[in-house]
Amino acid sequence: AGDSREGRIVKALSGYYYVKDDENDSGDTVQCRARGVFKKRGLSPLVGDRVAYVLTENGEGTVTELRERSSELIRPPVANIDVAILVFSVTEPVLNLQLLDKFLVHIEHAGIPAVLCLSKRDLEAEGEMTEEAAEAASSVQRIYRKLGYEVFGTSSRKHSGIEELQARLRGHLAVFAGQSGVGKSSLLNAIVPGLTLETNEISNRLGRGKHTTRHVELVDIGGGYVADTPGFSQLDFGELGIEDLGYCFVEMRELSPSCKFRGCTHVHEPGCAVLSALEDGDIERSRYDNYLLFLEEMKDIKRRY
Ligand code: GDP
Ligand code: ZN
Repeated sequence: AGDSREGRIVKALSGYYYVKDDENDSGDTVQCRARGVFKKRGLSPLVGDRVAYVLTENGEGTVTELRERSSELIRPPVANIDVAILVFSVTEPVLNLQLLDKFLVHIEHAGIPAVLCLSKRDLEAEGEMTEEAAEAASSVQRIYRKLGYEVFGTSSRKHSGIEELQARLRGHLAVFAGQSGVGKSSLLNAIVPGLTLETNEISNRLGRGKHTTRHVELVDIGGGYVADTPGFSQLDFGELGIEDLGYCFVEMRELSPSCKFRGCTHVHEPGCAVLSALEDGDIERSRYDNYLLFLEEMKDIKRRY
């Protein structure tokens, strides 16, 4: 056996893992099998994993070690994502703050830093927006910047805001997420040179849905990677505990140590720091309302099972 090398799995297909060596700057990968020991330990290598591997015959290799993961996402199944770009169009479909908070809850739960991106800003400039939509777009900037989230604005059609987003991704492993139709595929195509994902018009014309049975693959963007498929577009709270929800709202997470009771749900408890911040106007009403709504949704789910 040869020397142990370090690399990253950028693609998984039919029992093979494609590893890009840390020392190799070309786009080449080594086709590897994984050692049986992983299966025995219930571990399965994921795209995004940092691994140790050895070269075997025919230029192939064997993955021998999985390095510890900083995060793990299920849809798409990618490890070590260190930034999730949450895409919301300023209109078409109309910007929905409730959905935005739901996506944020999932990303916070996965422990992945989230960045917001308002897409289709050309529609704003062209006056294609209703007053409500314009209002929602500007409140996103106000509310979420205040919470500490970065907010980018892009137009794939006019190729604006793309360089700024590319700069943010440099040196990171990124995934794009958001509801269907917000322009994720168009944005990925604009950001990744040479990428040609199907966008909605095309898949409609061909009479089939997008992203069916696609395998996720990391695309090298020169000092970083982007998952070449949009992430979770459908969400439910199945895997989240009711007691976890407060931790997925950054402003509540910060305040909850000041609540009188441990495990405070911030609904009716006396001495709740979140409720008093809400009363003082230090917590945004829409955020708190969405928190209550999700809490009810989760209770419903638990009642049904
Ligand atoms: P996805 O479902 O989130 O991947 O969205 P797509 O990239 O498939 O885009 C959905 C629709 O929005 C398509 O009709 C695109 O042409 C359109 N679209 C995407 N980006 C933009 C943009 O920057 N401006 C405008 N006006 N339309 C866009
Ligand atoms: Zn509380």
